[in-house]
Amino acid sequence: MIPIPFLIALFLAFGLDAPGSPPDDVIATTIRTVAASLAVASAAFTLGLWTAWRVRGKGYATSRVRRVFFYGSRLVAVLTLAAFGWMIHGWGWAGVVNDSWGWRGSVLVDDVLTIAPFLFMQILTWWGLFYGERAIHGLPVSHASARVARHLYLKTRQALALAMPIILIFVLRNDVFGRFWPETRDDPAAETAELALLGFLILVLSPLFIRMAWPTRPLPDGPLRNRLEAISRRSGFRCSDVLVWDTDHAMVNACVTGVLPRFRYVLLSDALIDSLTPTEIAAVFGHEIGHVAHRHLPFFLFFFVGCLTVLTMASDVFTGLEAWISHLTTVDPSGPSTVRDVVEGLTVAVGIGGVFWLLFGQLSRRFERQADVYGCKAVSCDSEDCPPHVDLEALVDDGRPIDRVCPTGVRIFADALATVARQNGIDPETKSWRHGSIASRIAFLQKLAAAPEREAAFQRHVRRVRYGLAAGLLAVIGVAGAAHWLGMIR
Ligand SMILES: [Zn+2]
Ligand SMILES: [Zn+2]
Repeated sequence: MIPIPFLIALFLAFGLDAPGSPPDDVIATTIRTVAASLAVASAAFTLGLWTAWRVRGKGYATSRVRRVFFYGSRLVAVLTLAAFGWMIHGWGWAGVVNDSWGWRGSVLVDDVLTIAPFLFMQILTWWGLFYGERAIHGLPVSHASARVARHLYLKTRQALALAMPIILIFVLRNDVFGRFWPETRDDPAAETAELALLGFLILVLSPLFIRMAWPTRPLPDGPLRNRLEAISRRSGFRCSDVLVWDTDHAMVNACVTGVLPRFRYVLLSDALIDSLTPTEIAAVFGHEIGHVAHRHLPFFLFFFVGCLTVLTMASDVFTGLEAWISHLTTVDPSGPSTVRDVVEGLTVAVGIGGVFWLLFGQLSRRFERQADVYGCKAVSCDSEDCPPHVDLEALVDDGRPIDRVCPTGVRIFADALATVARQNGIDPETKSWRHGSIASRIAFLQKLAAAPEREAAFQRHVRRVRYGLAAGLLAVIGVAGAAHWLGMIR
C-alpha cells in the first residue's frame, strides 16, 4: 500500500548529498535525462506488450508468463530508481533545477521539479505495464479499466494521495520547521518530538488520504453488512463506515485505516466482494479488525519514530567517531576523498537499511499472522472439532466474544486467502516481505486448527517480540541520549 518506490525516490533526491555545483552543459544534461526516462519507459512497454501478446497467443496467462511479468515489473521499478539515482547523483539534475534554472529556496517548486523525472518515468511505466496487467487479469479490452486514461488517472490519484502524508511531513520539516525554528535542527530530542507529532498527525489523518486515494462508496444495507456489523459488535470494534472500494474490478483487496474510531474505515474492494462468499468476506473483515484489536498501527508508529530517532542519533555518533579517529591517525577525515565518503555513506545506509528491513519484515509478518488468526476466529464456532459447524453470524448476534479457532473457520479463511492470491495473479509460494507467502500463512493456520492449544504460545511469542523490540529501541535511544547529554560524543 505504501508507495515504497516513491519513498526511495524521495530519499535519493533529498536524503543524500547531491553534487553541489550544477553541470557544465545544462542542455545536454536535460536531453540525457529525458532520453534515459524514455529508455526506461520503453522497457516497460516491451514487457507489457510482450505479456499481452503471449496471453493472446495461448488464450490464457501461463504461470511462466505470470512469473516473467511479475519479476519483469519489479526489474522495471528497480531500473526506474537506478536511472533516477543516476540523474541526481551522476548528472547533477538537482543542480540544473536549483542553480541553472534558479529555483533554489522556493517552496515546493524546487522539490517537484527535482523529482519530476521520476514521476514522468513512473507514469510512462504504468502505462506500458498496464497492457500486461490487463491481459493477466483476463480483462476484456472493452472493460472499463481497459481505458488507459482511466487507469493512469486512478494510479496517479492513488500514488499522489498515498504519498501526500510523506510530502506533508517533508514540506513541514524542511520548509516550515526548518525555516521558522532552525535551532530544532541539531537537537535530537526536539527532532524526536517533531517526528512523533508528525507521525501521529498522519495516522489520525490517514482515512482522509485513503478516501482521496480511491473512489469509494458505503457498503449498501443488506445481509453482508448485517453480518459484518455482527462481527464488529462481538469484537467491540468501532469504525465510521464500511466502504466499497471501486477498482474497476482490477484488485481483490481489503484494508483498515485510522487510529481513532470516528476517523476509521474498513475498505473492501469491489472485486473482493464479487469473488468471495459472504463468510469468506467476513473472515477477511475479521483480519482487518484483528489489526485494530491487536493495536498494530500505533506500534508501527512507535517503531518508525524509534528507528528514525536511532538513525538521527547514529549520524551524531558517526560524526563523533570520525573526529575521534582523526585524533588517532594522521589521516585528515575532511580531506578530499570522495571514494571513501561514498563507501562510508553506502556502508551506513546499507547497514541501517538492512537492520530496519529485517526487523520491520519480521514484525510485519508476525502481525499479519496475528490478524489471520483473528480472521479465523471471526468465522469460527464453539466446537474445536467441527463439522458440524455453526455459522454464528447467520443465526443471531449472540454476543459471544471472538476468542476461539475452529477447523471450519480456519478453512474458510484459508479459502479466502487462496482466492485473493489467485485473483490477483500471485503465486501462493511467492514470498512477500511484509506478509510472508500465502502458502506459509495457510500452513500456519492449518497447524493451529489441528492443535488449538498452540495459539496461546503463538500470542505469547508475538507479545515477547513486541516488548523485546520496544525495550531494545528505548534502550538504544536512552544510551545514545545519555551519551549525547553527557557530552561524551561531541
Ligand atoms: Zn493484514
Ligand atoms: Zn466450526
